[in-house]
Amino acid sequence: MEILTLGNELLRQRTERINSINSEVTHIAAKMLELLIQQKGIGLAGPQVGYMHRIFVAKLEKSPGLVFINPSVIETSEETEKCEEGCLSLPGVWADVVRPSSVRVQAWNEKGRPFTLETNGLLARCILHELDHLDGVLFIDHLSEVKRNRLLAKFEKGQRV
Ligand SMILES: [Zn+2]
Repeated sequence: MEILTLGNELLRQRTERINSINSEVTHIAAKMLELLIQQKGIGLAGPQVGYMHRIFVAKLEKSPGLVFINPSVIETSEETEKCEEGCLSLPGVWADVVRPSSVRVQAWNEKGRPFTLETNGLLARCILHELDHLDGVLFIDHLSEVKRNRLLAKFEKGQRV
């Protein structure tokens, strides 16, 4: 399992629902968490490893890893927050992104148990960022075209070095 980076078409595709949370899915979730920790990220979505299904994992420092299967947003706050974001699929690219400050999400875990989570701060931001990945959306898509092009030029320059 390796992380796909910008330019790979899979990062721009929508993913499919997972029909059954079987041992293969459990295995993939464990692998994704392992890779996430190894890469020192806080979130990793299926498409980033070429697995085109609705799953992402999240792990903030010191807290246990969370697996979200077939997640859906129930509610987001009207209040927003601006914070710097990066992405394992866009190494070296960082930018301020405005997102709702809190989110309520429903999903299934790797054991097939449904859960609802209401959270704010960094975890809310991470969840919204990863949910975007499941629909082929990257954090740079939330920026102005000027800002995005500037970052992309910088990213491409970095990739050539
Ligand atoms: Zn990302």
